[in-house]
Amino acid sequence: MTFLQIDTAERSVPAIGDWQAQARAARISTADLLAHLQLTPGDFAAGVIADPDFPVLVPPHFLAQIRARDPADPLLAQVLARGEEAWPQPGRLTDPLEEADYRAAPGLLRKYRSRALLIASGACAVHCRYCFRRHYDYGAAALPASGQAAALAAIAADPAIDEVILSGGDPLSLSDARLAALAAGIAGIAHVNTLRLHSRTLVVIPARVTDALVEMIAASRLQTVIVLHSNHANELSDDVRGALLRLRAAGATLLNQSVLLAGVNDAAEVIAGHCRRLLACGVLPYYMHLTDPVAGTAHFDVGTEMARDIEADLRRMLPGYLVPRFVREVPGELSKTPLWAL
Ligand code: SF4
Repeated sequence: MTFLQIDTAERSVPAIGDWQAQARAARISTADLLAHLQLTPGDFAAGVIADPDFPVLVPPHFLAQIRARDPADPLLAQVLARGEEAWPQPGRLTDPLEEADYRAAPGLLRKYRSRALLIASGACAVHCRYCFRRHYDYGAAALPASGQAAALAAIAADPAIDEVILSGGDPLSLSDARLAALAAGIAGIAHVNTLRLHSRTLVVIPARVTDALVEMIAASRLQTVIVLHSNHANELSDDVRGALLRLRAAGATLLNQSVLLAGVNDAAEVIAGHCRRLLACGVLPYYMHLTDPVAGTAHFDVGTEMARDIEADLRRMLPGYLVPRFVREVPGELSKTPLWAL
């Protein structure tokens, strides 16, 4: 992934509750992260990487949810560059989903007939070590501000497109002004009915739910679906819950997708607790993704057999509406492949 700074065009908002200040403060060295948590490299079996290519980004709110003096903390596992990333990993890829094949215009991916995906921003508020796009060249793939008109024209020219998905990176890395302009352009296309946003920023910087964002959702003629990315109940602080409930009150439908990660959420009890907390936040579990074969992330893999056992346990523990669908993205397949079919 090309490291891109988050969009910080609007600097006039006050520092308290200023999500952009939180985003700017997210860049942290491995050494400072460990020192803050009263840990040392020796606390990790394979050590840590002092200066990884995929830089460490941990916003202060997320950092505050990580337990000090606990090298096994499930949130820390998602953001710390551990030595395992540098191990030789034959067969692991840099573009595991072969997304480059679906580029329809700069910043526009077209995989499904009724949906178009805009890579609205190449920036993220947090860098998740398991990210399947960590090697992605966002500098080339993200929607440039100058390319917005062309992407919208391509969507307008195809009446089969009913839903536009804003992804990234993270679309909520955009300023409210840029996001509103993009959403207004999409709302101006008569055959588009749904705007979907995929975001992890809401989990790591709940202050991202600004009055302007809430008003944009409430005023839009489009149905807004927000697919959150959260992996563990410890991420869902009361501040996050309050922010999510504001979005729901504005009319957004809230879903969550997780990644099944060794050392984070690879136990049915942990996922069940997460799903119940999601419900308390007004969010329904949607997908549980099995990891993709991304270079540098093998230490997060959970085997297919273990995933099946976890899914079966969840069906016994939770009502059906709280059990996420266990899936894997298989390159060349037009929809996600359910675990049972793997
Ligand atoms: S927020 Fe999403 S796109 Fe960004 S690093 Fe994390 S998983 Fe990857």
